[in-house]
Amino acid sequence: MKAAQVIKPKAPLEIRDLTSPSPQGKEVLVRIKSSGVCHSDIHIWEGGYEGVKGQIMSVEERGVKFPLTLGHEVAGIVETVGSDVTEFNEGSRVLVYPWIGDGVCPACQIGEENLCDHPKSLGVYQNGGYAEKVLVPHEKYLVDIDNLEFDAISSLSCSGLTAFTAVKNADTSPKQTLVITGIGGLGLMAVQIARALLNPNIIAVDIDDKRLEQAKKFGADYAVNSRNGDAVKQVKDLTNGLGTDAIVDFVNGPKTVTPDIDMLRKRGKLVLVGLFGGSIELNLPLVPL
Ligand SMILES: [Zn+2]
Ligand SMILES: [Zn+2]
Repeated sequence: MKAAQVIKPKAPLEIRDLTSPSPQGKEVLVRIKSSGVCHSDIHIWEGGYEGVKGQIMSVEERGVKFPLTLGHEVAGIVETVGSDVTEFNEGSRVLVYPWIGDGVCPACQIGEENLCDHPKSLGVYQNGGYAEKVLVPHEKYLVDIDNLEFDAISSLSCSGLTAFTAVKNADTSPKQTLVITGIGGLGLMAVQIARALLNPNIIAVDIDDKRLEQAKKFGADYAVNSRNGDAVKQVKDLTNGLGTDAIVDFVNGPKTVTPDIDMLRKRGKLVLVGLFGGSIELNLPLVPL
């Protein structure tokens, strides 16, 4: 089977011919119909994330091994199943959950495999979806998608889940305010999920008016353009000068997190999601106060 692999950071991907795996036991081989490209893929391809003072946190030091087939947003059709698979058959239409753990560490024991001590995520620590087929280690990682479209569904396994969890962690009530910073794919997903799940007062923050307009169409109550640097004032004006109860920041760079902290109300929650990178100086007394 063909797979597009990263051979080494920042080099063009290579199309390689790999042996098509034959599933054993609970394993399932999925023929890929749709595979999303996530911003994390770009970080992995670049070889790392920007940390403090421009220092790069290498993905190889964090356990990534090249050559690697990227791709963790995969939807497709079951091609063959191992002998112990009971829930899926050849031809089943599925979304693949990629955040696979070792199954034995404390995180895995309570069902948080995405935070495993020894992660085996597809497309990160083992071959993923930039290929014709992917081997899924257990049928429990598959979700039946019925007749939903492959292209529409594939990104739900990463950007959909990420936005869902971030909004859940923000945990705002209908009387509270939630700021969503960074209105890209995840931000727009989060606006809709927040409206449906928690129904708070939603303030969308971005530097692009077109995206902010879209956020309002998707359920944001207010839009704040932070390009001119007065996002803190605008958010405070919208919250009786008190600040917001929670923020989900899908950028997570110095230019967003520094104002985040200044626009947060007492007892407020800041959920950092994006991997833009960099660092900020933190005014420590503000945290306990
Ligand atoms: Zn992703
Ligand atoms: Zn684990």
